[in-house]
Parts: sequence; structure tokens; C-alpha cells
Amino acid sequence: MASRRVEDLYEYFQPLVNSFLKEANNATYPWQTFITDGFRSLQEQNELYAKGRTQPGKIVTNAQGGQSWHNFGLAVDIAFQKDGKLNYDQVLYDKIVKMGKDRGFIWGGDWSVFVDKPHFEWHPGITLEDARAGKRPKGGNMSDEYGNIVYKSTQHDETVKYIFGEDKDPRQTSSKEVQNHIAGLKSRVTEFAKVESEIENKKEQIVRLKDQLLKEDKLRLDVITSLSTTEKIVKTYETRTKVLQEQIDTLAKEKGECQNKLAEIGKVEIGIINKILNWIRRR
Ligand SMILES: [Zn+2]
Repeated sequence: MASRRVEDLYEYFQPLVNSFLKEANNATYPWQTFITDGFRSLQEQNELYAKGRTQPGKIVTNAQGGQSWHNFGLAVDIAFQKDGKLNYDQVLYDKIVKMGKDRGFIWGGDWSVFVDKPHFEWHPGITLEDARAGKRPKGGNMSDEYGNIVYKSTQHDETVKYIFGEDKDPRQTSSKEVQNHIAGLKSRVTEFAKVESEIENKKEQIVRLKDQLLKEDKLRLDVITSLSTTEKIVKTYETRTKVLQEQIDTLAKEKGECQNKLAEIGKVEIGIINKILNWIRRR
């Protein structure tokens, strides 16, 4: 026997059903609108499926356990009663169908294969396969205390909006997807920090190299002024240029900023050497 309690339905479906019952009740008076079947366990669903098949009676459902929205607390069957008398009159359903649809419910009376007038289900954005995998509609249309339908966003909705932007439908986005996205962001931040510190290291290396080169050149300049063989000096500096170029090429293989800095330093360094060479040749 399925549950008739609204409290056994899925959390976000409950307020919708409550306001639906309230509004429907007013419309069907003196007939009272009530739930004959709400949440139904897998076992109860299988027992119902057996009816008219392996068990006596008439076939009442085409759904086995896990194939009905009732199994996820996302469907209700509605009937009408007065003084203990049951009623499944089309006239009464006609009065309440729009009220259900306004709340985003799908009505079984619209189906062509297995017309199921008492049946209303609600599962915006998810399939039965999703439901079996544990996915549930997130938020959606809710009723305020006066029974007006309002959209109430959940924490999940807010998170999805924040990290994916407005284009993503929160009800189609699983918590798993959100978690994966956040994990991805975190690892990118870590990766970025690593690259940044590499660049910082490279910068320090460049500064040290520059200092060293300047110091060496100053020494060399002192030596040059005291030497007499121009040819020997030229040869020394040609070798020096080659070595420097090799060092620069090696370091220049590094990324972005480092590369620019190196090129800059290399240019300055070669400029200094050429100046010295010209100065020596003019002597
Ligand atoms: Zn049903």
C-alpha cells in the first residue's frame, strides 16, 4: 500500500502538492480532493505490477519498481471523496488539471497509451534514468504562504549560477558536476601558483646573471685598458659573445616574462660588448 502522506513525497514536491490540494479542494467542493497514492516503495511497485499479470486482478500499471515517479516521491494519484464515497469523475479532474500544470506537473490524463487521469508527476529537468541514478529536481516552482507560485532558488541553484553563470540550468546540473568543477578550479589555482613561483625563480636567476655579467665586463674593461694586443682582446670578446648567446638561448626557452627579460638583458649585454669592440678597434 503506497503512502498517502505529503511528508513522504520528495522535499521540493511537498509544498507544491500542498498548495495544489488546497486550491483543488476549493474548486471541487463539496467533493474533497485527496491523495490515494503518493510515495510507493520499489517492492510495492513490483507488487502492483504483478496485479493482472502473475497475480489476480486487472492490470493497473505498466511500471515495474524504479520505473514510476511514485518510487521517487515525485508523483501523486488524486481522487475525490464525500461521505466515504469515492469519485473519479472527469468533470472534477477538468476543474483541477490546470492548477497542477501551473505548478509544472505532468498530468497522466494527457497520455495516449495508458491514460491515467488520477496521476500527476513532477520532475523538471530530469529523466527516470537520472532519478534512478540518484538525481532529483532542484528547487523549481514553490508556493508561498498564500499559495502563490513563486520561484525559490536553493543553495544549489545559487552555487550553479555563481560558478557556471546564468546559462546553466541548476535543475539539470548535478551536485557531482558542481563538485568536479570546483575541484578543477582548485587544481588550476595550484597549478598557476606553481608556474608563478617558477617565473619568480627564473627572474632571480636572470638578475644574478646580469649582475655577474656586469661585474665580469667591468673587470675585463680594466684588463683591456692595460693590454696592447688588440687582436687578442677581440678574440676574447668574440668567444665571450658566443658563450653569452648560448646562455641567452637556453634561458630564452623559458616561458613569457622570463623570455622577454632575457631578450632585453641579452640585447643590452651584446650592445655593451659591441661598444667595447668598437672602442678597441678604434684604438
Ligand atoms: Zn500514479
